[in-house]
Amino acid sequence: MIDYKLHIPGPVNVSEETYHAMCTPVMGHRSTDFVDLYQSCQPNLQKLFQTKDPVFLSTSSAWGVMEGALRNLCRKKVLCCMCGAFSDKWIDVAKRAGLQADPLQVEWGQHIDPDDLKTQLASGDYDVVTLVHNETSCGMMNPLKEIMDVLREFPDVISIIDTVSSFSVVPIPKDDWGIDVILTGSQKALAMPPGLALFTVSARAFQRAEQTEGRGYYFDFLEFRSNHAKGMTPSTPVIPLIHALNYTLNKIFSEGVENRHQRHSRLNQLVHKWAEGHGFELLPQQQFASKSLTCLKNNLHIDLAGFVKTLRESKKIAIDGGYGKIKGKTFRVSNMGDETDKSIGHLLSSMDEVLEQFLPA
Ligand SMILES: *Cc1c(COP(=O)(O)O)cnc(C)c1O
Repeated sequence: MIDYKLHIPGPVNVSEETYHAMCTPVMGHRSTDFVDLYQSCQPNLQKLFQTKDPVFLSTSSAWGVMEGALRNLCRKKVLCCMCGAFSDKWIDVAKRAGLQADPLQVEWGQHIDPDDLKTQLASGDYDVVTLVHNETSCGMMNPLKEIMDVLREFPDVISIIDTVSSFSVVPIPKDDWGIDVILTGSQKALAMPPGLALFTVSARAFQRAEQTEGRGYYFDFLEFRSNHAKGMTPSTPVIPLIHALNYTLNKIFSEGVENRHQRHSRLNQLVHKWAEGHGFELLPQQQFASKSLTCLKNNLHIDLAGFVKTLRESKKIAIDGGYGKIKGKTFRVSNMGDETDKSIGHLLSSMDEVLEQFLPA
């Protein structure tokens, strides 16, 4: 049993109420009860995704849809915007799926420059772009609006946007910005257990999928669409998580989406102030810093592994000691999901107390 609270940037802490919502008897996934559950989520999902397109539920983690979207949409070549661990891995996934893929690579923590994207797309080589909106590994949020301004100039290029750690944290007006595919997962900003991915597909992306061979079965967008019309998923879904989703959506709309965005922004600022107070620097530039988590450089050269371990053991709080190649050089603190002023206040005062022991005397 874990006896500590998760403040790592995913999976994040799940509330008792959310667990409780999952403890509902299993039903047949072709029953009217299931159709009722599925369809009752739809209006809220479409509102939250800011789209008129259908929102699909995939029993997989986000990577399933990240790979599946490429198999559905890429006929020519994909351009992978790369700025951290998740976006870097996406090109590897594309190649393993047998697709031609090129990088648009920047240093970890840097953002994707819309002008660079425009230059590369002008070659006419690409029919798909992948972008991670919020690079969770670096705590960096890409300028999605400006990037979409560029992408709309290339009507043959389909956009696949990973919003795993930014969905419901900041506004992402899908239809207004002309995003083709947005995908997210259950265990990050939505604060549910892992196992469910959510995604939505534009009409022109469907047209592309219809012409694309090798879509496979499990992630075939056309299967999702035809089942959706009946209020169902292609195969047996993770029904407990759909109950949790229904509960979570109602909770989000009773808080109010704008209030939710403001709460995340305010809590994120509290973490930034804490960092500033101690002299820790953000990894990304301030203006591209994520609102869902904070990635800090270990510029004070503390024993980071010791700090993380002591915080977990003595304060029962888990933060992250850095991801992939920046492990030990950075640390990350999440303010996603159900966090409050009180819970973030407790996190920061606990970090204060433990940090004392790790600063030079
Ligand atoms: C966590 C994460 C993923 C991977 O999600 P899985 O659920 O492990 O498939 C992808 N992209 C981003 C930005 C993430 O934070």
